[in-house]
Amino acid sequence: MTKNFLSALFLLAFCSVASAGAIEVITLIDITGERDTALLIGTTEAQLKKFVPSGKLQNQIAAFLVKFEGQEILFDAGLRDGHVVNELVKNGAAPEKIKFVVLTHLHGDHFGGLVTPEGKAAFPEAEIFIAKPEKIFWADEKKNEGVLEALSIYEGRVKLFDFGDEILPGVKAIDTTGHTPGHTSFLIESSGEKFLILGDIIHFVDIQLPVPEVAVTYDTDPVKAVQSRKFILDYAAQKEIPVAGMHIKGSGILKIKKSGEGYENF
Ligand SMILES: [Zn+2]
Repeated sequence: MTKNFLSALFLLAFCSVASAGAIEVITLIDITGERDTALLIGTTEAQLKKFVPSGKLQNQIAAFLVKFEGQEILFDAGLRDGHVVNELVKNGAAPEKIKFVVLTHLHGDHFGGLVTPEGKAAFPEAEIFIAKPEKIFWADEKKNEGVLEALSIYEGRVKLFDFGDEILPGVKAIDTTGHTPGHTSFLIESSGEKFLILGDIIHFVDIQLPVPEVAVTYDTDPVKAVQSRKFILDYAAQKEIPVAGMHIKGSGILKIKKSGEGYENF
């Protein structure tokens, strides 16, 4: 109860700040958790001691509701039945009125919340946006049966895009493949303001921000995942664009700058 109360307070505080600009970003936390450092690839004992002294990695699963120029776009849907839907309602949004759900990729913690506990569409009026290579890998090549089931519920309303496309007004799809074959980040632009939805560029902010070479065991292509992380974080740092990541603990939102061989939040 206390934890929920504190996150509600935090979200309220954050919303008031974000709404001052042209783009409002609301963090919808599905679940917070702690993971083992055995999930990491390419780290050293010294790095672990310095950046993860407790030996436990803190992260969370979140989705983001982004509002600008009269549009409301949900980026990812979370893992579990109803959690993101409940968070939307708490924040004054109506799931049945969400028209656009944009997915960064097709892992269960990003598309799972598309389906209600009764097996129905959690967002009955929504079109679902997915990168073509992501849909091919998980659905057409049948790498995950759960994806097939979820997409069949939204049949006729699944919109596939190419990298570089402006998928909705002011929303551009950026190739950040590696974590999965069609992993996508999204650049949002409105009235001269910019914002980046990273997706799973950062799983564990404590170590992957200062040491971006660290990958995770569930990256489909860890080498490419590292390249994409450096590419998009360099871009955000150079252009001073705030970023949101689905597994970055807390608000999920960072303003980053280069620091040593990596990056830091400021
Ligand atoms: Zn994820």
